[in-house]
Amino acid sequence: MATITFLGAAQEVTGSCHLLEVPGVGRMLLDCGMHQGGDAVKRIQDEEFAFDPATIDAVILSHAHLDHSGLLPRLVHEGFVGRIICTRATAELLDIMLNDSAGLYLRDLERANIRSARRGHPQIDPIYTMADVESALGQCDGHAYNRQIDLGENASVCFHDAGHILGSAIVEITVREQEKEKVLVFSGDLGKGDSVLMNEPARLSKADVLLVESTYGDREHRGEQDTVVQLREILKETWKVGGSVMIPAFAVGRTQDLLFHLGCLHYEGELDNWEIFLDSPMAIAVTRVYDRWLKLLDGDDVRALSDVHKTSLETFLPVLNLTTSTEESMAINRIKGGAIVIAGSGMCTGGRIRHHFKQRIWDRRNTVIFTGYQARGTLGRVIVDGAKAIKMFGEEYVVKARVETLGGLSAHAGQGQLVDWVGGFTPPPRTFLVHGEAGAQDAMADKLWRERQLKVEIPARGQSIVF
Ligand SMILES: [Zn+2]
Ligand SMILES: [Zn+2]
Repeated sequence: MATITFLGAAQEVTGSCHLLEVPGVGRMLLDCGMHQGGDAVKRIQDEEFAFDPATIDAVILSHAHLDHSGLLPRLVHEGFVGRIICTRATAELLDIMLNDSAGLYLRDLERANIRSARRGHPQIDPIYTMADVESALGQCDGHAYNRQIDLGENASVCFHDAGHILGSAIVEITVREQEKEKVLVFSGDLGKGDSVLMNEPARLSKADVLLVESTYGDREHRGEQDTVVQLREILKETWKVGGSVMIPAFAVGRTQDLLFHLGCLHYEGELDNWEIFLDSPMAIAVTRVYDRWLKLLDGDDVRALSDVHKTSLETFLPVLNLTTSTEESMAINRIKGGAIVIAGSGMCTGGRIRHHFKQRIWDRRNTVIFTGYQARGTLGRVIVDGAKAIKMFGEEYVVKARVETLGGLSAHAGQGQLVDWVGGFTPPPRTFLVHGEAGAQDAMADKLWRERQLKVEIPARGQSIVF
């Protein structure tokens, strides 16, 4: 009998982590993600494992996003020595993601410690260090899609393309117990099919137990083509009033989608006179990994790149300025209007976007464009929810800039696609909704019942099931 314990992304979106225990095979984690939102130092300090990391035999990682991978260095720091099994592209992205995340955390912690020292408060030791990041990367074991990878004698895992970000996988685990096979499928995060660069999520049909994400279980997205029309309109209107555009960038996926769309607009002559900046060393590094793995991406879109004799996202948009140094980033401040600035972080929890907000969010001529999900507790969510003023760097800033969301650029499947994907399994497996807020999960459960007569369960954090 195998057991799954839901330890994170249970009735919430971030912190994906499930413990799978299979007698004779071992204890495995599906993802080891961190929570997002709130004060980063405090949050990371507060994260606690509900198990002893030294007793975990392997981690099976669905994709590189931090809400699925961010606690790997801490896991290693606390004694995990096993393999981190993932796709090869995920392993390459992890190198960038974990180094960036640990760097930010250690910098923030150092600042917090200086503040504490001034007040005579005790110092906080880091929960993990760069050495742990190095070890975690060394434990990564990268594989291609559609190959059976042994997990000892009685179990194997196979990754299928989830179409969410580069390297993202649907995880299929087969367990053999007394001549009987049982299959667990974990969707990871599912893409929305029509997004540029990404393939449609693979459709699987056999499972005994299914863990499926439900981020957008309560809503549909606009089609990607509508989104391009929307983007073009927003740019035109902002140009007319002499404003600039700030785009909080998710370094992985959305940034590359945006570069692709902006490239298309450029070749249509829509971007003449704009100055465009990718103001994120991390997004620049990730774009280069995408360029190395173009063969994994959607063939039609990649052909569109080469049709204009460009085989790289970086060069597809010739008017793009890559700003790596802080000085270059600050120089953008001198541009009065007509700048498009793509800067991290995607949920505005840190990074250079906050500095651009400081310069421009209080001016009604400017526009902020969100391109993806804003988790509860993040600055991005506060702005999307219509705050009249925000607090950053200990000061208050009024929000006068126009705020728009390009829902069609989401990296996640919408409600209809999720329901369709779950409906592809016959006979219906025992199904659990994870990675979604309660409202979205209820809506999705309701839809699955009304349209497909499928009953699903919504596990609470800490709950275990046996199969
Ligand atoms: Zn993701
Ligand atoms: Zn996720």
